[in-house]
Amino acid sequence: KPRLLEDEDGGVIFLSSSYSSSSSGYGYVSIEKQRQRLPVYKYRTAILYLVESHATTIVVGETGSGKTTQIPQFLKEAGWADGGRVIACTQPRRLAVQAVASRVAEEMGVKLGEEVGYTIRFEDISNPDLTRIKFLTDGVLLREMMDDPLLTKYSVIMVDEAHERSISTDIVLGLLKKIQKRRPELRLIISSATIEAKSMSNFFLSSKRRQALEGEELRPGLEPAILSVEGRGFNVQIHYVEDPVRDYVQAAVSTVLLINDKEPPGDILVFLTGQDDIDAAIKLLTEEARSNGKNSSGLIILPLYSGLTRAEQDLIFSPTPKGKRKVVISTNIAETSLTLEGIVYVVDSGFSKQRFYNPISDIENLVVAPISKASARQRAGRAGRLRPGKCYRLYTEEYFLNEMSIQGIPEIQRSNLVSCVIQLKALGIDNILGFDWPASPSPESMIRALEVLYSLGVLDDDAKLTSPVGFQVAEIPLEPMIAKMILSSNELGCSDEIITIAAVLSIQSIWFSARGAQKELDEAKLRFAAAEGDHVTFLNIYKGFLQSGKSSKWCHKNFINYHAMKKVMEIRELLRRIALRLGIVLKSCETDMQLVRKAVTAGFFANACRLEAYSHGGMYKTIRGSQEVYIHPSSVLFRVNPKCVIYHSLVSTDRQYMRNVMSIDPSWLTEVAPHFYQQQRHNPTIH
Ligand code: ADP
Ligand code: MG
Repeated sequence: KPRLLEDEDGGVIFLSSSYSSSSSGYGYVSIEKQRQRLPVYKYRTAILYLVESHATTIVVGETGSGKTTQIPQFLKEAGWADGGRVIACTQPRRLAVQAVASRVAEEMGVKLGEEVGYTIRFEDISNPDLTRIKFLTDGVLLREMMDDPLLTKYSVIMVDEAHERSISTDIVLGLLKKIQKRRPELRLIISSATIEAKSMSNFFLSSKRRQALEGEELRPGLEPAILSVEGRGFNVQIHYVEDPVRDYVQAAVSTVLLINDKEPPGDILVFLTGQDDIDAAIKLLTEEARSNGKNSSGLIILPLYSGLTRAEQDLIFSPTPKGKRKVVISTNIAETSLTLEGIVYVVDSGFSKQRFYNPISDIENLVVAPISKASARQRAGRAGRLRPGKCYRLYTEEYFLNEMSIQGIPEIQRSNLVSCVIQLKALGIDNILGFDWPASPSPESMIRALEVLYSLGVLDDDAKLTSPVGFQVAEIPLEPMIAKMILSSNELGCSDEIITIAAVLSIQSIWFSARGAQKELDEAKLRFAAAEGDHVTFLNIYKGFLQSGKSSKWCHKNFINYHAMKKVMEIRELLRRIALRLGIVLKSCETDMQLVRKAVTAGFFANACRLEAYSHGGMYKTIRGSQEVYIHPSSVLFRVNPKCVIYHSLVSTDRQYMRNVMSIDPSWLTEVAPHFYQQQRHNPTIH
């Protein structure tokens, strides 16, 4: 058990926000009253004035002050959606898009999908004729630019959560700056929690300066306005552990039980990193609470991560019944994207899942990595909404002070840029290195991306999109490697199978997460396991699901997640329509799995690995970068260890693990990607 240390000096932080929810029960106040109590309400006139008079307005305000839910409504009330125009508000996260859209529809008393709508990849709950306020991911906004490069239907675009610096946000910001030059009437609002406002305004200022240097005439109002939403906040008392914790899941669970034992009522928000450790914590907490006896019976334990169903989302936001205590165990989505009422205690593991890319080894993976001080401060702030709160950090004060970085690195500087490059190319941005980025990606990453795209046949010698392949790949709303796999399946005559595989690869997992029932899950997997690997196994599962009449009982019996399978069916249907539009005729290769494997190889050749040693359960090396990787235990090829494999993605814990693995014949590599596999200096011959 971690020992909690009360911090005397410097441990109390003051938040520049105030919240007005009366402790007598938020749920009893009318929605209109609730709106008026939010800090941004006082700034309504100021915001509308700045938007009217400035091309760009930067709004800075603590999480929960009402930026996302209120500003689009202010704009609509002021007439920005009149005459068929639309107000857009982007979010980096899909779940946030869904949650805020339904909240705003509720506040306005309209049906979601009509006046207020949302669009995320594979889900469009909006109506081109009716929707006036539209929430969407920044990725979807990028897609919309392909059909409508100047985004003409929008009068105002609010780029929200800009401090998160997601890769799509950065691309969108760079492009919107270009669009503004062509559409002076377009208004931008960039909203952000306090931390990164400066760099954001610098980005827009520097462009102004550049224009001045180029002798371009400055239009009035081109300089961005900055508005800071102020308020007086509640103190949050910070506690640190005395010694570093070994297992943050266990430490988080112990801390929750400790809070529940010793502290007065108030909900608890726990920050972990992803579905796996959240599910593990929930299981542990449920068990320990049960064995702890009476005091823990009042706990309502809820997960919060992307991919939750609507009903699960509603539980998160519903008020806690009297005498109960809610424990929400979340990814960093609750850090700034979503605000939960009633949180008084925060438990911060100090970690989040982050994407990291190494252009030298050409490896990108999701890593559980330390958060920054800025994030830690945001997380603590979630405890101070209702009244003074407490934050329990599962790391030492010494670590916080001396080792945590001040700020995170923008995602664009730690990502593989393949998708990014192809989207910019499709939008006609040819000089990608010279693009006006809020933060420049490394030239090495850029060159790697260009090389992969060239090998995929997407770019030609002049780094222009090829026709038709390049344009087709850009049009498919999936990662370019999957898109290429789909196009290749057309020639190979296995598109029917490949779109099923593409649909399954687009969701997190089709298996039911089975903590404690690992043996049963493994047995279930064996029933479907194909010697060729996970991709072909997915086909077996899909076939079984269809034969069962899409039965939920069948899923349950086989440890398959029924909701995930329904989602697979939906995505597959969308992909079928996209394929038709691209002139791909759905054709099945029946039992010839070699064709399927070749099509997968045509997309994922860059992820090929060769078995190096049987030690440690099978050590592989990537053929191109010679990086050590292992087959993930969730794969049907775990311990089978074929000689040569291709993976879909990597996750990293103690080692780099390949997820979704398929065996291939290495001779296919030079067949499908001669450029990629012949030009290397240290290439051990492929055999
Ligand atoms: P910000 O964008 O400044 O972080 P928001 O506009 O998201 O703030 O939130 C303002 C208020 O609306 C908060 O009190 C929050 O709890 C409430 N809210 C937002 N979304 C929901 C939802 N889906 N259900 C209930 N309340 C919500
Ligand atoms: Mg917000």
